Amino acid sequence: MHIENRYLLKDYNTFGLDIQTDQLIRVRSAEDLDQIISKDFLKEKPYLVLGGGSNLLFTDNFPGLVLKNEILGRDITKEDQDFVWVKLGAGENWHQVVLWAIENDWGGIENLSLIPGTVGAAPMQNIGAYGVELAQVFQSLEAIELEEGNLQVFNGDQCDFGYRYSIFKGELKNKYLITSVTLKLSKKPEFNTSYGAIHNTLQEQGITELSLKAISKAVIAIRESKLPDPRKIGNAGSFFKNPSITKDHFNTIRNEHPTVPGYNLPNNYVKVPAGWLIEQCGWKGKRRGNIGVHKNQALVLVNYGNGHGKDIHKLALDIQASVEQSFNILLTPEVNIVPA
Ligand SMILES: Cc1cc2nc3c(=O)[nH]c(=O)nc-3n(C[C@H](O)[C@H](O)[C@H](O)COP(=O)(O)OP(=O)(O)OC[C@H]3O[C@@H](n4cnc5c(N)ncnc54)[C@H](O)[C@@H]3O)c2cc1C
Repeated sequence: MHIENRYLLKDYNTFGLDIQTDQLIRVRSAEDLDQIISKDFLKEKPYLVLGGGSNLLFTDNFPGLVLKNEILGRDITKEDQDFVWVKLGAGENWHQVVLWAIENDWGGIENLSLIPGTVGAAPMQNIGAYGVELAQVFQSLEAIELEEGNLQVFNGDQCDFGYRYSIFKGELKNKYLITSVTLKLSKKPEFNTSYGAIHNTLQEQGITELSLKAISKAVIAIRESKLPDPRKIGNAGSFFKNPSITKDHFNTIRNEHPTVPGYNLPNNYVKVPAGWLIEQCGWKGKRRGNIGVHKNQALVLVNYGNGHGKDIHKLALDIQASVEQSFNILLTPEVNIVPA
C-alpha cells in the first residue's frame, strides 16, 4: 500500500479545481481497504472516497486522506435465457461499461451513456438520464463498512433509491466504500425512447431500426450538444436537483409565469426544472471572474480555469437564495460539497 503525500487533485475533479489532499491511497482491492482500516488510518484524519470526481465540489484543499477507488473487474455471475447478471468492480469507468454492455447486446443502461464517473458512484445518487435510472437494472452491491471493515451486501430496497438519492447519500453517507455493483441486464431489451429528445434525434439521424447502439449514439449526440465537456470547461453536470413542489404551489407560480414547465408526480406533486427557475432569476450566462453559470445551461456551474471552489460554492448559495426569494423553493445541490 502506497501513500502519496500532498497529492494534486486537479485531474481528479471535473470542475478542474487546483486543490490538493494531504494524502491519497489508491484502493485496488478489498484487501487494500482491509489494510487501511486495520492500520486505523481512517480514525486519524478526515477521509473521502473518490471515484471520478464528477459529482464533487471541493471548496478547499482536503485536509485528510483520499481513498481513490480503482477496483476493477467485469464478471458474469449468472445467466438465463432472458437476463445476464454482471458484477462490476466499483472503479470501472461507467461509460466504458455501457459500451461493453451494448457490444454484448445486453440492454438496460444504453440511455445512461456518457455519464462520467465510476460504477461505484452510480448507486450513490441512483444516476439517471433520458427516462432511465440505475435502480431499474440494479441487482445488488457489495460495500465495506469503514469503521470495522465488514463486507455487506445491499439489495435495491436496502439502498432506498429515490430521485438522485440512495441511503449512501443519506444516513450512511461516508460510512461505506462500495466495492462492486451487480446489474441485471436484458438479453431481450425493450427500447426506451419515451424521452422526446431521443425520439427526435433518431428521426434526424434517419434511424428507422432501433438498436441499443442507435439509442446510445442518439443519447451521446444529445448530451454532447447540450452539456459542456468537462475536459474543456470545468463542471460537475447539473448542480441542483429538480425540486418537487405541491400542485397548489405550482399553480401559484403558473398564475404569474404561465410558461412554467412542470411534470406531474404522484400525490399531487409537480417536478419543476431547476434550470428554468435559475434562468428566470437572471443567472444564465452570468460570469464572476473565472467562474459562472453556463451560457446555455443555467443548471450547470462552470470553472473557466483557475476558479476557486469557494467562489463556486458562494455562487451556488446566491442562486439558491434568489430562487427561494422569487419562487419560495429551496434548491438542493445534487453535487456533493466537500467539506459538507
Ligand atoms: C458533464 C456531466 C454530466 C453528468 N450527467 C449526469 C447525468 O445525466 N445523470 C446523473 O445522475 N449524473 C450525472 N453527472 C454526475 C456524475 O457523473 C455522477 O453522479 C457519477 O455517478 C459520479 O461518479 P464519480 O465516480 O465521478 O463520483 P465522485 O464524484 O468521485 O463521487 C461522488 C460521491 O460518491 C462518493 N463515492 C464515489 N465512489 C464511491 C464508492 N465506491 N463508495 C462509496 N462512495 C463513493 C463520493 O465520496 C462522493 O460523495 C454528470 C456529471 C458531469 C460532469
